[in-house]
This record gives sequence, C-alpha cells and structure tokens, in this order.
Amino acid sequence: MAPRKLIAGNWKMNLLKAEGEALVRALGASLASEPKPACDVLVCPPFTLLGALAPLCGEAGLALGAQDCHAAPSGAFTGNVAAPMLADAGCAYVIVGHSERRSLHGEDNATVKAKAEAALAAGLVAIVCVGETEAERDSGKAEEIVVAQLLKSLPEGASAGSLVVAYEPVWAIGTGRTPTVAQVADMHAALRKALGGAVADAAAVRILYGGSVKPGNAAELLAVANVDGALVGGASLSHGDFWAICQSCG
Ligand code: PEP
Repeated sequence: MAPRKLIAGNWKMNLLKAEGEALVRALGASLASEPKPACDVLVCPPFTLLGALAPLCGEAGLALGAQDCHAAPSGAFTGNVAAPMLADAGCAYVIVGHSERRSLHGEDNATVKAKAEAALAAGLVAIVCVGETEAERDSGKAEEIVVAQLLKSLPEGASAGSLVVAYEPVWAIGTGRTPTVAQVADMHAALRKALGGAVADAAAVRILYGGSVKPGNAAELLAVANVDGALVGGASLSHGDFWAICQSCG
C-alpha cells in the first residue's frame, strides 16, 4: 500500500509572526472542515517562528518542521541551530539538503548526511532533498546523478518513520517550470529502487515531489506512481493555494 501523502510547506525566509499565525490558524480552520484531505500537512517556517507556532500547529492538526539544522548537537557554531533545539521547540521534521542550502551555503552530500543523522539522533524526521540542475537534466544523466546524490546523503539507520525524500529538480524551484509527468514517474521509480538497497522498509518511505507545485498542477503530479506528497515553496505562503494543493490529494 502506498504511504499516506504528505504536503509540506517550505516558507523559506518569509512571513513575520502575525502573518505566520494567521496562516496556521487559517489552515487549522480548513483542516477542521469537511471533507478532510487525504494527506498529512506540515509547515516549515523560519526558525524565529517555531516556538510561537508550535502550540498553534498542535491545535490546528498541522505538523511543524524546520528548514535546516546543524550536524552537531550543540557547540560553538554562531548563528546555527541544532536538531535537539528544533525538537525542543516542537518540531517533528527538518528539511536537510535543500538546493538553496547546497548552492548558496556550499553544502555537499556528506554535510547533508551528517545533518540528517543529527536529525534522527534528535528524534526528528529528516526530509532529505535531492535534485538535478538543468545542465544535468540536459546531459541525459539526471536519474544516475540524483540517485548517487541520494545514496550519499542518506542517514545511517534510516527507516520510513524517520526519513522522507524530496525530489526537487533545481531548475523547477521557483521558476514555474515542472518536469513532465513521465520524467517525475521515472525519477521517483529510480529513487524508490535505490532506497530498496539502503532502507529496510523502502516501500513505505515517502518520496515527495517539489518544484513549482501549484493548485493547477498538483493533482496531476500527486497522481504519479511513487509520488507520496509535495514539498511546496511559493504556493505554501498562500492559504488558498496551499489548501487547494492539500485537497488535490483526494
Ligand atoms: C522549494 O523551495 O522547496 C520549492 C519547491 O519551491 P517552489 O514550490 O516555490 O518551486
């Protein structure tokens, strides 16, 4: 049986406290109404909002996650946030290896793996992001490249309860462009197969698609085999758009 879908909103560096609270309250009101969407719903606000939003997310029936963590549990790392701090703030999930972290902060696969392992050690679910650049897609080797990236980024000891994979083609993030349904299907099948050699319960690991998911394309993308949800950036800042994507799960 396919895993229950997960719709995750990555707010990135957006929204102040009142705006974040209003968005969580609005999502909570939607979640309380019928029909319920066939998915779990997660929001990943900036660090500064986690403490304030944790109780509201609890009341709303939303899971809370962060957008990054440090690989060390504590220490002299000015400006960073450790995974146990995120758990302490009420997070259940943390995104690691987002392409903006990889490209803007120079994070390589080894760093992503270390962060994912720190997340697991803190009891968090690690959302490990992978994806090819446009040049890599054009080279015809996207699947090979992304599978290698995944295998090098996977935390030791992961299981379906502690790991989510997010396939996010770099060229689709924030651009309004998406891969074809066939390209998504092929990549997700390749990732599922790769997980089979690395994780005991690979069939139950959720593999999200991310990159310009909008209300207009969500149903089509979410219907693809091995797509177990979506990681949503821009559209997660709008209650109407994010909720419409959640409802696209059925
Ligand atoms: C993201 O940043 O994870 C993302 C998928 O962004 P967008 O939906 O805006 O393309």
